[in-house]
Amino acid sequence: MTFKERENEKNPDNDNVPDSLQGKSLEELWELLLGKDELIQEKAKYEARKLKPDYQEGAPNLLECVMCGCDEVKNVELDVPLKSNKVLLSVRVKYGAQCSNPNCLEKYYDSNALDAIKNIEYWLKMRKHHPRILPFHLLGKEAREETVRVMRGEENDDVE
Ligand SMILES: [Zn+2]
Repeated sequence: MTFKERENEKNPDNDNVPDSLQGKSLEELWELLLGKDELIQEKAKYEARKLKPDYQEGAPNLLECVMCGCDEVKNVELDVPLKSNKVLLSVRVKYGAQCSNPNCLEKYYDSNALDAIKNIEYWLKMRKHHPRILPFHLLGKEAREETVRVMRGEENDDVE
């Protein structure tokens, strides 16, 4: 349960959602947000995106590049370089995407991949400073909990 959900349980009236938005479907909310015409346009863009040869369930399937606005952002496997490490240079992300504009080439990957990369980077960093540290699944309960705290940013992990 999130903090907000806990707060809401204590005080169900305090959910900060105006009454006029209560009980609306996701579709209706999008319509309010974008306006009817724009919603129709967005849906058409999404349908067109589905027809492109690189469309794949589970891939980012982006409609356009956030950085440059180019509408050719292809789903690709990406090699994401790892920070500060000389042994393993990059991680391959299966469901990534990259902008086709040669002046941009912005790379996209989802938050799960990002978390996984962060965990690997963290482990490599710990490993460098504490060469005897074990892989996560071999750690004791306390060490695991501490690792999770650090990975969540609840603790200062600046061991450089
Ligand atoms: Zn771009």
